[in-house]
Amino acid sequence: MRLPAFLTFALIFTLSACTPATGPYQERIYVFGTLVDVTLAGVTAEQGRQAVAELAKDFQDEHREWHSWQPGPLTDLNAAIARGEPGRLTPHLRRLIEISQRLSAQSEGLFDPAIGGLVRLWGFHSDDPLTGKPPPSAQAIAEWVQARPRMSDLVLDGDVVRSRNPKVMLDFGAIAKGYAVDLAIEKLRAMGIANGIVNAGGGMTVIGQRDGRPWRVGVRHPQGKGVLAAIELRDGESVHTSGNYERYNEHEGIRYGHIIDPRTGYPGREVLSATVLHEDGSVADAAATALVVAGMKDWQRIARRMGLRLVMVVDQAGEVHMPQAMADRVRFAEDSPPIVHVVPPL
Ligand code: ADP
Ligand code: MG
Repeated sequence: MRLPAFLTFALIFTLSACTPATGPYQERIYVFGTLVDVTLAGVTAEQGRQAVAELAKDFQDEHREWHSWQPGPLTDLNAAIARGEPGRLTPHLRRLIEISQRLSAQSEGLFDPAIGGLVRLWGFHSDDPLTGKPPPSAQAIAEWVQARPRMSDLVLDGDVVRSRNPKVMLDFGAIAKGYAVDLAIEKLRAMGIANGIVNAGGGMTVIGQRDGRPWRVGVRHPQGKGVLAAIELRDGESVHTSGNYERYNEHEGIRYGHIIDPRTGYPGREVLSATVLHEDGSVADAAATALVVAGMKDWQRIARRMGLRLVMVVDQAGEVHMPQAMADRVRFAEDSPPIVHVVPPL
């Protein structure tokens, strides 16, 4: 899964980076060779340390369970599917499949974690640096598009899953961080912690407030110009940003991003980044990826089909497109605000 990338290639980060003596408790967890920021308000340092230690343990377990190429339960499952055999599910894998089947259907297959084989073909299934490798041959891509593995090929039966298509290779990179961060937030609530942020780079979820004021977070500029916008998040809200600008392979002057359009087999290019605000972190994460794939013509329709209201899309020119409901939630830097196009309500 793409947990490593969501952390390494941070798209969103909290604006309050330092911890004054009286401020919130902050700790960076190093998991999956990368970083998650946890910010907790209204706790003692000891409570903070204990809570973060619990979260770190969970993240490590999840990392092992859902990783799409390091050996573990998910690679075992993918191997079984490739052999045409039923695969065994952990409770989390079952849940991830169920949620992904729903979101994949709603997004008309633009978000589809069954395309792990295509992701691997493009070389994004690896911790190695990507730059310079030639893209796959047009024929190899065409073969994948033809075989078109989909989430709907999977049939769940208790803790077993069967696939009608042996080309299905699950890669939860586009949803796992939203799911994992929401689990972490649930855990914090269960521990009696009511105020905090779990920020996993490309996406985060908040609970409660900071000293009686809403948490304020930043969306990073997809063209590397620092912070694009600030958003105040309410209790339980998540915001996720996806884009093809952070993790990509460059070959002969052309950039190939890691978000792939299952219809064509090639990376989506029109949408520089998509930001989704939602009360369900898994939905926000998966939807941000789907909207990058959708492109400028289709993103509003896909957003509607996915039941989204609060969405912001940045096009290739760096111009922002969003409905008024989202415009009401974001603040741009005063010195260099982007050109904004307000679209009809979703
Ligand atoms: P990030 O990991 O940078 O936060 P995303 O949430 O958009 O970005 O996830 C991108 C990852 O999801 C890719 O690296 C790949 O593993 C996987 N992926 C790529 N294209 C798709 C797609 N169309 N549907 C589902 N998963 C995808
Ligand atoms: Mg995503």
